[in-house]
Amino acid sequence: MIKKVLVANRGEIAVRVMRSCREMGIISVAVYSEADRRAMHVRYADEAYFIGPSPSSESYLNTDKIIHAAKKSGADAIHPGYGFLSENAAFAGRCLEEGIVFIGPSPEAIRSMGDKITSRRLMTEAGIPVVPGTEKINSEKLALEKAREIGCPVMVKASAGGGGKGMRLVKNEKDIVGAVRSARSEAREAFGDDSIYIEKYIESPHHIEFQVLGDQHGNIIHLFERECSVQRRHQKIVEETPSPVMTQKVREEMGSFAVAAARAVNYAGAGTVEFIVDDHLNYYFLEMNTRLQVEHPITERVVGVDLVKQQIRIANGETLDIRQDELLQFGHAIECRIYAEDPEQNFMPSPGVIRHITEPLGLGVRHDGYVYEGYEIPLFYDPMMSKLIVWAGTRKEAIARLRRALYSYKITGVKTNIRFLERIMECPDFVNGQYNTHFVDKNIDFLLFPEKHDEKIEDVAIIAAFIDYATKIKKREDKIFSKNGKSNWKDCGRRISFMRY
Ligand code: ADP
Repeated sequence: MIKKVLVANRGEIAVRVMRSCREMGIISVAVYSEADRRAMHVRYADEAYFIGPSPSSESYLNTDKIIHAAKKSGADAIHPGYGFLSENAAFAGRCLEEGIVFIGPSPEAIRSMGDKITSRRLMTEAGIPVVPGTEKINSEKLALEKAREIGCPVMVKASAGGGGKGMRLVKNEKDIVGAVRSARSEAREAFGDDSIYIEKYIESPHHIEFQVLGDQHGNIIHLFERECSVQRRHQKIVEETPSPVMTQKVREEMGSFAVAAARAVNYAGAGTVEFIVDDHLNYYFLEMNTRLQVEHPITERVVGVDLVKQQIRIANGETLDIRQDELLQFGHAIECRIYAEDPEQNFMPSPGVIRHITEPLGLGVRHDGYVYEGYEIPLFYDPMMSKLIVWAGTRKEAIARLRRALYSYKITGVKTNIRFLERIMECPDFVNGQYNTHFVDKNIDFLLFPEKHDEKIEDVAIIAAFIDYATKIKKREDKIFSKNGKSNWKDCGRRISFMRY
């Protein structure tokens, strides 16, 4: 039985994993770099071990140091979180060799799914629809031939790809050679592997993924879908479940394909099968992530399952205690990722000291974060500060709740994308559930320049209600609303849009 878990990660996910450990009576061990001496995960853990300089290559990605800390602390298992070593088959193998339980799937499963060309082949053999595309492309000449055969637009993709790296959209045949060259060099730099392949570009795409859980005894279930189409540069910003475009029939089909995908690699652990879905709900396997996803809390909320606890139970060799036919999606959950960044400066990271933070609270709100007042966000890591997750009985209520929560979320000291997220929640395409991965590009003006759009409110009753509301607010919160003694009607504008729903 696992009694002590070393969490080989930092930030919100390290804290989140430790919370489940504590509930299970398991001792948690943190590791930390120079930049993370004052980090929340170090304070939260039962024990903490220093593992070296701030750059992750010298600390969180250094296998020897992590294994050494595990041995020194007497941890019997390692939870890798997401990112860092979570999808590193060699690390999972090393844990096994050292007699430490790796809380995740087998090294073989990680390896098969980590290489996109291999996983596409395996999925095709298992009868799962994959995006039409090629095997490995060795030459620019072949790339051109294949792009012609498939028909532009196509995607040039790195086999080792992740985080949107090594991926190029090619709209016109003449651009294929340049795209192959640049995707290759980016992939070489990021993954040390420049293998690429080409796949058909799916127009008006939705990114819809299925959460799966498999135990070591061959039982595999899915925990329904997550809609992850609100993206910027192929990176998710907002996720929700259920997907507003899903039908029960397609959900059941995709769910069984997700289970089949996991079965094809004897999957044991928590994983995510990603699909790309077109306007007509034709779906194609994209990839499988063999770890916990950033957006896992929305699934936890809607199905009522603690995925980290399940991961630990599975790693313990226990049998899944959830049956597929017992699961149902209850209500609606939305997550948004809060970043220390400046949307008005092309989303440039904005690290710095948190001067003040008021976290959102209340019914149906979950906030998975790690920053606190006086904490300095280091330059070295991802600028995501927290995840705000809401749940409500219906999608409409969940949007209203997320708006309320975002509105009460105050951080000073660093720039954040909170206002940008509020605008997403106000954007008609999102509110109506009519969006795909082009959402951010299509609505960028609305999202970044609220002043231009707020004057378009036409509903007289809403304007009247707003004036009444704003007048009361103005009296009550004069200090907040006034700058140099003058009314700040831009702030009131926030309230106009807030009042609209
Ligand atoms: P990564 O592993 O780098 O995250 P993915 O293969 O998961 O890359 O793709 C990331 C995103 O890129 C998807 O969510 C989708 O928005 C877009 N994308 C990827 N492949 C295609 C495709 N064939 N057609 C259309 N969009 C795609």
